[in-house]
Amino acid sequence: MATLKIAAKASQSTTFPALLVAHFTKILDDKTSIDFIFEDVDILDPLKKSTVELLTGSGDPLVGSQQVLNSLFESNPLLRGKNDELVNEWFDRSTKISAPDVRATEAHLLELDAHLTLRSYIVDYSVTAADIAVWGVIRGSKIGYSSMKKGAMLNVTRWYKFIEEICPWIANAIHSANAQAQARTSAQSSKGASYGIGLPDTDKGVVTRFPPEPSGYLHIGHVKAALLNDYFAHEEYRGTLLCRFDDTNPSKEREEFQNAIVADLALMGVRPDRTTFTSDYFDELYEYCIRLIKDGRAYGDDTEKEKMQHERWHGIKSERRDASVDQNLARFEEMKKGTDEGLRWCVRAKMSIDDPNKALRDPVIYRCNPERHHRTNDRWKMYPTYDFACPIVDSIEGVTHALRTIEYRDRNPQYEWMLNALQLRKVHIWDFARMNFVRTVLSKRKLTKLVDRGVVWGWDDPRFPTIRGIRRRGMTIPALREFILKQGPSKNIVNLDWTLFWATNKKYIDPVAPRHTAITKEHAVKATVKGARLAPWTEDKPKHGKNPEIGTKKVAFSEEILIEQVDAQNFAQDEEITLMNWGNAIVRNIKHSFNPLHLKEVTGLELELHLQGDVKTTKQKITWLSQQGQELIPIELVDFDYLITKDVLEEGDELDDFLNEKTEFRSEALADCNVAELKEDDIIQFERKGYFRVDRAFQHGKPAVLFNIPTGKGASKQGHLMIPANGNTSNKRRNDQSINI
Ligand code: ATP
Ligand code: MG
Repeated sequence: MATLKIAAKASQSTTFPALLVAHFTKILDDKTSIDFIFEDVDILDPLKKSTVELLTGSGDPLVGSQQVLNSLFESNPLLRGKNDELVNEWFDRSTKISAPDVRATEAHLLELDAHLTLRSYIVDYSVTAADIAVWGVIRGSKIGYSSMKKGAMLNVTRWYKFIEEICPWIANAIHSANAQAQARTSAQSSKGASYGIGLPDTDKGVVTRFPPEPSGYLHIGHVKAALLNDYFAHEEYRGTLLCRFDDTNPSKEREEFQNAIVADLALMGVRPDRTTFTSDYFDELYEYCIRLIKDGRAYGDDTEKEKMQHERWHGIKSERRDASVDQNLARFEEMKKGTDEGLRWCVRAKMSIDDPNKALRDPVIYRCNPERHHRTNDRWKMYPTYDFACPIVDSIEGVTHALRTIEYRDRNPQYEWMLNALQLRKVHIWDFARMNFVRTVLSKRKLTKLVDRGVVWGWDDPRFPTIRGIRRRGMTIPALREFILKQGPSKNIVNLDWTLFWATNKKYIDPVAPRHTAITKEHAVKATVKGARLAPWTEDKPKHGKNPEIGTKKVAFSEEILIEQVDAQNFAQDEEITLMNWGNAIVRNIKHSFNPLHLKEVTGLELELHLQGDVKTTKQKITWLSQQGQELIPIELVDFDYLITKDVLEEGDELDDFLNEKTEFRSEALADCNVAELKEDDIIQFERKGYFRVDRAFQHGKPAVLFNIPTGKGASKQGHLMIPANGNTSNKRRNDQSINI
């Protein structure tokens, strides 16, 4: 398969057409499909001044937009069309549209406009390379795009929209170009803050690694480690990033986890140059252990677990420490075979009996485990520990800088001891702070427990701090990257609050989330609108007040509407209010009754339209839904609370003692008819209710399910879906009320 390399910082007018074609090939069969990667540079090859390159796997890469596009089009007869010459002519013209000069660009667009007068396509009667090249250049060029957007060139505008409509893959190309631009901006904005630390000895090259254990799904703490390694390898220096699965404990590890980790890293935009496994090195590690034993630097030990802990704690020498080399080799051999005798033993490095740093008190370097390993099957019955394997594999894989979380600091001398003892190449260790969040467990062991016990729905539970969990809750990837990169590589351990996390997300979703309306079903009030036309009707209204690109939705109007009980409760007789998206109305005739709890409830009202009224003067601007002229869509709104009740779990705290009993809040509502078209994963705003992610799309008979997306403001536990006791309906407050996970 071919790969397209794109210089991320280059002008999109030269790179976008190629990206478009790469996306086009994705809808064809696998063999011709082209992958693409962005490089964080403005020119890929300074000598050739190329911004795009196509690596086909045979021969030299094709360099430069023209050459790459030519080859892409040649290998796709679908796009060549029947009239090669004309296609080629327009193809050449396309480059001129990206001229950095407004007048020249406009002149070319005018020619195009004239050409398109009686045509739907530039050449022939279907989409050809000419359309794609010209479209791509216009979209990618600032001048071209804004000239076209001005709308004076009617034919160009019509053609531009038409091509976009009939080629749905164009949207994917735009999305990946935008995601790339956003990721870059967020990396840059975080740079200034704290990345100026500089690693030592980088002139000889930089190789970093992210070493996850495939024993669970990635959580946001892991994302920090992965992004930092990626940052130093790929952004700060032109280095190499390895992803190494630390698979040395078959009892905890599974292929399912491994695959999920690979997928989640890709989703985060972390692209390891190589993926390896500690298990690739089991033979070498075995030999290195034999060497330590032969050098008198390691010994077999069968001291019972608690006793060994006690001895290490108090600096007491193990009874087995002075065994002979031959005895130790024999015991190691038994371990290798996994005999009953062997299973009782482990191997320890002979570092120190009583060093003040307890990590140096003869740590275990090999232990037995008869379970099947997900990659090496039953070949091994014993496995190296992380402490032993990590420095050795780092060294043989060429890692130059091992970034580790700070709690490993005590184990740094141990890491160095291994490399010295085995005379292996040195690796720089560089510590950074673990990332913690309040009321959140970030330990795979504890998360596994919650999954296994059914406290949550699974690893992708929206209350979980896994990548999958927070995405399901409505976090977007660019926001997640920005937030974590902003933390920088600081060494101070902090307990982060979720506020800023979700506020960062809001910045990304607010400008693009379509606006819809939902009314809580319970106690909803039917209101009659006097002065409305007798027959129901619909109008097209923008889905987003400030962003016309999001499109329009149908708003139904009629004499009969539904409004929220909490709004109705606040109305005074003859008060002028605003029906959002409609106009002003005056409240007449409020009907009350008392519910079983003897609370006053509004059971009906009459509103008299007063469309000449000024919407700026009303205190209450409310959402409403017409009961006629549309099918109201049943929905379920779900809000969540933290899983644990204590901000920071301390040493000795039992997880079970701090589990929150109720963490899921559901309420039923009705939504406007457009909500029927939403798909899973769409993110929208219900006006005055907040942002939501569609977890299950609407199907006839089955309500759509939407999860509330926190915005970082307000920390009410019960969520905003319940009717607030004081009936406060101020728009702002109710929009922002939401909870954090
Ligand atoms: P966990 O406690 O979740 O099991 P771990 O360190 O045992 O964490 P690994 O899969 O071994 O899990 O971790 C992979 C990498 O992620 C390691 O380099 C580890 O230091 C780093 N890492 C794990 N948790 C965090 C965190 N909360 N903040 C920053 N880095 C982390
Ligand atoms: Mg670990």
